[in-house]
Amino acid sequence: MTAFDDNLAKLDIYLAPFRSAGIQNRIAGKDAPGAGGVFQTRSPVDKSVICNVAHGTAENIDAAARAAHAAFAAWRDMPATARRAILIRIAEGIEARAEEIALCECWDTGQAYKFMSKAALRGAENFRYFADQVVQARDGQHLKSPTLMNITTRVPIGPVGVITPWNTPFMLSTWKIAPALAAGCSVVHKPAEASPLTARLLVEIAEEAGLPPGVLNTVNGFGEDAGKALCAHPLIKAIAFVGESRTGSLITKQGADTLKRNHLELGGKNPVIVFEDADLDRALDAVIFMIYSINGERCTSSSRLLVQDTIREDFEARLIERVNAIKVGHPLDPATEIGPLISEEHFDKVTRYFETARAEGATIAAGGETVGETGYFVRPTLFTDANNRMRIAREEIFGPVLTSIPFGTEEEALQIANDTPYGLTGYVWTNDLTRALRFTDRLEAGMIWVNSENVRHLPTPFGGVKASGIGRDGGDWSFDFYMELKHIGFATGQHKITKLGTLS
Ligand code: NAD
Repeated sequence: MTAFDDNLAKLDIYLAPFRSAGIQNRIAGKDAPGAGGVFQTRSPVDKSVICNVAHGTAENIDAAARAAHAAFAAWRDMPATARRAILIRIAEGIEARAEEIALCECWDTGQAYKFMSKAALRGAENFRYFADQVVQARDGQHLKSPTLMNITTRVPIGPVGVITPWNTPFMLSTWKIAPALAAGCSVVHKPAEASPLTARLLVEIAEEAGLPPGVLNTVNGFGEDAGKALCAHPLIKAIAFVGESRTGSLITKQGADTLKRNHLELGGKNPVIVFEDADLDRALDAVIFMIYSINGERCTSSSRLLVQDTIREDFEARLIERVNAIKVGHPLDPATEIGPLISEEHFDKVTRYFETARAEGATIAAGGETVGETGYFVRPTLFTDANNRMRIAREEIFGPVLTSIPFGTEEEALQIANDTPYGLTGYVWTNDLTRALRFTDRLEAGMIWVNSENVRHLPTPFGGVKASGIGRDGGDWSFDFYMELKHIGFATGQHKITKLGTLS
């Protein structure tokens, strides 16, 4: 039996409960049907139905928000060490079921096992990291003044909504839910309708780890009803959202009447800038990894290659050779590097850009084709002879599609890099230290890596500028979002209080 066959056999076992019972909402520690009936989730590998999913609506969201509200005070007041122990048990539960999570995620989203085998473990790491922050999360500062002892403290904001997208859904959900729970918030999670499987596994694991009922509730459903109702619900104090930039605007509008605090992690059209003095072998590896891994369905992917004109011809030739050798295939085959795109809608969107590229006068130097008929497979694609005014350089394609744009000078590279509505990440390849300092100082992005691909370190701030988002996650920044800062001043003596009403 090959590792591929082994994965297929195991997947069959792991899918059995989903096939027999479907996916229910989970509210206050109990299964709850969708008030809107059910919808079906399909695998992008062969378009087959995986299972029925509860179609949650505003009615389910209301029940979940009430459950989160009811569970909040006890969770907030639980001793930090006890909360910490539960979060660590959740991490252990994720590790114990990592293979199941990875295989289900691959089947549900089309992501290659090669990358997803680690995604579940990264989810566990998110819980472990934030578990370690629980004890000091409320610590404030002591800001002494002449007449007062001023202290600050932090308290959890209350029940929060977490709305997540379909790309690496398990990892992204834990990235939001772990700090929310660590802060002492209760949560209503609305996972993406296209990838509901692992959200169900997460809430099961959390409850088995001892998370009290109602502290984490999961309502499946669509953005326009369940998602919208979550944003508008008065008992929900904040929304942590990951998704498209235009949905981010809707989140803000929908939460306006209830004065919602929003954290928005949105789209990107991130530049990777390769200067002629860079280590070109490593730059090539990183350029390829950062757009073609995870099917290119990654917010931080470097989808615009800005390459210096003196090295362009040779660099693009090497790139084409490697891109053509990337293995497209079944996501459960451990050798597969690119699996199918998430859905028919997304497949249509990505493949339309092949036409757009031709119409705009760019060259399709690699790929630009679909693969087979059974699923939503496309070949990794490279557009050359492009400029930054083209739609293929301006719009987030969110697939394994790279647009290469030449530049002459450092100033021109900076101008092109910043000429985008987005500002999530940037990647700079140069061995000139002063240039790297100068360039990164002026590059408009929330996160920049120099001579490196995206390497996450959980204590560092994660987030974007411009249309790529508002707010930061990671380290203590996560708690800034999920907690309210409170100032308390204690008089240290009998300072003068101005008296009113004593003149007569
Ligand atoms: P999306 O915006 O379509 O959907 C994301 C989530 O929002 C889903 O759960 C969806 O049901 C919900 N939603 C949709 N409309 C809503 C509404 N009106 N109110 C409330 N909820 C609503 O995004 P997607 O297509 O699922 O995900 C891909 C996008 O996510 C890309 O743009 C990608 O760049 C972005 N993303 C960003 C980051 C980041 O950290 N910046 C990370 C991953 C993905």
